[in-house]
Amino acid sequence: MTIRPILIHPDPRLKKAAEPVGDITDEMRALADDMLETMYDAPGIGLAAPQIGVMLQLLVMDCVKEEGEAHRPMAMFNPEIIWASDEMSTYEEGCLSIPDQYAEVDRPAEVDVRWTDVNGEVQEERFKDLWATCVQHEIDHLNGKLFIDYLKPLKRQMITRKMQKLKRERARA
Ligand SMILES: [Zn+2]
Repeated sequence: MTIRPILIHPDPRLKKAAEPVGDITDEMRALADDMLETMYDAPGIGLAAPQIGVMLQLLVMDCVKEEGEAHRPMAMFNPEIIWASDEMSTYEEGCLSIPDQYAEVDRPAEVDVRWTDVNGEVQEERFKDLWATCVQHEIDHLNGKLFIDYLKPLKRQMITRKMQKLKRERARA
């Protein structure tokens, strides 16, 4: 398994829609493993393939944060939201492509998601709480959308300028 570099906003690849995945091959399973390792290393609770510059509909997540609780690594190919609750919930979100920036985002509190798993089997599950927020945030990535796109333009521009500065500093380092 390999830890892959994570793209930092602004980057045109983070604004583009990803392509559907065809057959779930060993190459696809290796990509999912790399993404999980990259996510745990960051550390983060979710990562979408475009964040490592791979324009495919694949996300990984593990929202188990309690000390001592077993991890639940998930990899989803071609995920789609097939139902969303009217009830909304608000979480302070962050993103591995927008380091150290956090903001509250309203999203449906529960969603049903259908996806293809690493064995090529179609799965369906209802997610709630942090898992619901995380899976919606990651599916947004597959559609070229970032959590800051939900914020007011002024706040979004402020965060984007901070990220441009961070990228300049990293390029010099
Ligand atoms: Zn993100």
